[in-house]
Amino acid sequence: MTDTRRSIVQVAIPLPLDTVFDYLVPEHLADSVQPGKRVFVPFGRRKLTGYILGYAKESTGELKEIISVLDPDPLFTSGELELYRWAASYYLHPLGEVIKAALPAGINIESRKQTLTSDNGNAVAEELLKGGRSVKTETFYRILPASGEPVGLRGKAERIIAFLHDVGETSRSVICKNFGDSSAPLKKLRELGLVEELKREVYRDPFREDSFEHDAPQVLNGSQSLAFSRIVPAINAGDFSPFLLHGVTGSGKTEVYLQVIGHCLDLGKNALVLVPEIALTPQLVRRFRSRFRCGIAVLHSGLAGGERYDEWRRIRRGEVSIVIGARSAIFAPLERLGVIVVDEEHEASYKQTEGFTYNARDLALVRGKMEKAVVVLGSATPLITTYHAALQGRLHHLELPERVRNLPLPVTEIIDGRRRKGETFLPELVAALADNLDRGGQTLLFLNRRGFATFLVCRDCGHVFRCPNCSVTLTYHRLKQRHYCHYCDFSLPAPSVCPGCNGAEIVLLGRGTERVEEGVKELFPEARVARMDSDTTSGKGSHARILKKLEERSIDILIGTQMIAKGHDYPGVTLVGVISADGTLNIPDFRSAERAFQLVSQVTGRAGRGDAPGKVLIQTLAPDHYALVRAAAHDFAGFYADEIEFRRQTGYPPYSFLAAVNLSGTSAREVEKGAEDAARVLRELRRELGSRTEILGPAPATMAKIRGRFRWHILLKAPTRRELNRILARCRAEFKPPAVVRMSIDIDPVDMM
Ligand code: ADP
Ligand code: ZN
Repeated sequence: MTDTRRSIVQVAIPLPLDTVFDYLVPEHLADSVQPGKRVFVPFGRRKLTGYILGYAKESTGELKEIISVLDPDPLFTSGELELYRWAASYYLHPLGEVIKAALPAGINIESRKQTLTSDNGNAVAEELLKGGRSVKTETFYRILPASGEPVGLRGKAERIIAFLHDVGETSRSVICKNFGDSSAPLKKLRELGLVEELKREVYRDPFREDSFEHDAPQVLNGSQSLAFSRIVPAINAGDFSPFLLHGVTGSGKTEVYLQVIGHCLDLGKNALVLVPEIALTPQLVRRFRSRFRCGIAVLHSGLAGGERYDEWRRIRRGEVSIVIGARSAIFAPLERLGVIVVDEEHEASYKQTEGFTYNARDLALVRGKMEKAVVVLGSATPLITTYHAALQGRLHHLELPERVRNLPLPVTEIIDGRRRKGETFLPELVAALADNLDRGGQTLLFLNRRGFATFLVCRDCGHVFRCPNCSVTLTYHRLKQRHYCHYCDFSLPAPSVCPGCNGAEIVLLGRGTERVEEGVKELFPEARVARMDSDTTSGKGSHARILKKLEERSIDILIGTQMIAKGHDYPGVTLVGVISADGTLNIPDFRSAERAFQLVSQVTGRAGRGDAPGKVLIQTLAPDHYALVRAAAHDFAGFYADEIEFRRQTGYPPYSFLAAVNLSGTSAREVEKGAEDAARVLRELRRELGSRTEILGPAPATMAKIRGRFRWHILLKAPTRRELNRILARCRAEFKPPAVVRMSIDIDPVDMM
């Protein structure tokens, strides 16, 4: 072989390892090796799948040979590899695992089969790759360019021709849906040479609806067109440019996204739209499909491996101009990106919480920068950190201050639950419910799923127990009869009287949706009641079915968790009740006020989207809390002012950068010891590096045990990202916990339960 550079490749392997490995390319594979393809390689005593990163220079030592090349075409480009590398180094996560997470699961399932069954050759790999896909074909029709004299047509044939003229190439099933059995007229049209028949591969697409409702762009109102006119030049310039589109629900943000995307398409550029999983409803997808005739791919977690892989392949082949998806869609292999939209940018669900813990919202900005695309972060309640960045000029701030149809915002009332006997429904809420039922209005009753019975509150004065060091609520641990701070190691014995008012009625808070449902049925036996939470929506499509019923008005009262706080317009909903805002206000997280504000604003947005005005009632033991008071007054700026002051005083983001070191395992003692050792190493490194990083803990996690595994963590709070990354990179390289304990690093943790 003459070209020695090409005979060695660098391979990343999806294992918790920081290194990449060099392999020799045997001559018979020299032509098929290419960066971005997967290879099957010997690794220790095993054989594993890895990803070719590139060609390696001369390598010292004994090298092993690649066994086979698994893909006919590269799975990722050098640009995508650059994003993976960035993420691996920022999140301190092995590159091979990053790549694995970024590629669709369908591929990896096949390579696992491969690992089990194959010990040589491409033939097996190719078989498996073929076998793993199920491709369907369908018959399509399209008009042939007119030749010669126009033919006089009548009846169905004439209408079908007109239809094909309007909508372009159309499948047989859609034609039949619109015109009934069309075999005879289609046959005639083909014989006349007016229409051609084609067989096409179709993709499994659970969202596709064969409808041709057309949705024309709206005439933008003043603030919408101002926003539009700021974003468009940035897209034309082809530079990275980040925007915050800040507007209450119903202010027309989606319409702005749609028109910005339309502009991108006109320029031949593509668009990536990220939405929280829960907002990825058929309603939303329908809105895109009826606006745009281009290829649209939809990626969400409900897709089976094969379906996801189909969508991914369409994107890779360039058959798609718009990708709509939840979190992992940030890795969609879409080229020529014009814009990345991150809708509801404040949503915690953009953060992957297990394994490779990236945040898609943050990666959107990174990807936008790498690919010179515009990034639009949209929200009614932007993150405090986002708003801070906007005020500092690091994001362009665009506002849509009013609801499009000038609908008034609903009237929001806070109901003080203190010193009133422990009712799930206070009289004000019962009266409002009865009244709304009488008038035929629909009601949403909201209950926070996170309202575990884990924190203590005084029913008389509303006092909650907070950590003096960390400004978060203490979490009650029944077993030890103490309550603990889960950031540092502070703890207190469970009190019998309230230190605030000497009252003796200290209660554990938390109520389940099921109990609320029972209560409602007892109070209003004649009402049509439904419940929506993770128990009732585990089946495929069940979420959408419940919402459909709500839309059709066959539900009077819907009880649910945060799932019901999102979604689209339900004009019949005129009352929203929040059973208790306390669960959110008191989650042991420095963001609890922010979450409560978002939540109340969110549910407020659900009321009164039709013609009847809406009303919102919030039950709470903390009626004076600024998050609730500001949310009830629809005052984001006021809330920001209060909250940024709290962050400044306590030194939380944006005034610091956080990371969590998480340890888990089945042995409580080993995990605790591992956590202590890790904390000790971190403190030593802190001294050695002269780092200003604060190290809090170790402390047991709020959810101290999940699926049989005990959990502890250490929280790091650093003045700069660089310092945070430096100390953690060292710790990761130098400290190995005992084999039975798993350690992981979570940069910018979102959920610290
Ligand atoms: P958001 O995304 O902020 O909740 P939407 O874009 O969904 O707001 O707009 C809310 C409703 O108002 C939708 O039904 C939308 O079709 C309509 N709408 C948006 N912009 C306009 C406009 N300029 N003129 C008329 N209707 C509009
Ligand atoms: Zn603490």
